[in-house]
Amino acid sequence: MKVAIINTPAKGTEVHGAGCADVKKSEKRNKDEAWVIDVDSKLELSHTYWNDQIGDQVSPDSAEGWATAEAWLGEFNFLPCCGDLADGVSPFGTTEVPDLPVADDKVISVWVGWRVADAAIAQGGTLGAKLEARKPNAVLDRTVKLTKAESEALAAVATQLENEVLGSKGAGPVAYSCRTLRDRLAAAWA
Ligand SMILES: [Zn+2]
Repeated sequence: MKVAIINTPAKGTEVHGAGCADVKKSEKRNKDEAWVIDVDSKLELSHTYWNDQIGDQVSPDSAEGWATAEAWLGEFNFLPCCGDLADGVSPFGTTEVPDLPVADDKVISVWVGWRVADAAIAQGGTLGAKLEARKPNAVLDRTVKLTKAESEALAAVATQLENEVLGSKGAGPVAYSCRTLRDRLAAAWA
């Protein structure tokens, strides 16, 4: 299916069916030109969209690369106009999300999704300031280096957000994304 992907700095990345009448409006609103691609599934879309970012961590075409694409599905806002698009399955089946590389023994580098970033910014403090500094770069660059204390604070934010989201309707990919961040933080310190 042909889809139109629009980067929306304020709230993740919109995915429309390519023929959707809202594409033009969203392009204007978000000052972004839609990227139209033909994909068979949401997972394939995530894998294509994030290819460069995944490549910073692992080979995109490895099992870990596909697992990362799956973990980052929560960053997309799949609108009803792409309702027929299948979820998709990794060519490697289910794989654990890889640990992100640890920068040194005191700091980890972790990519943070917009929902968690926004929640952390709202809470303020050094963690909020750190993520605030990343905000203009939107969804493509929210990789932050965190101390253990900041990592724990971020895990708490992710946990809180996940609990909130799990208590409301229609939140599947969000909860998945948050849980993944928590797991990645834990894994990075393990
Ligand atoms: Zn649409």
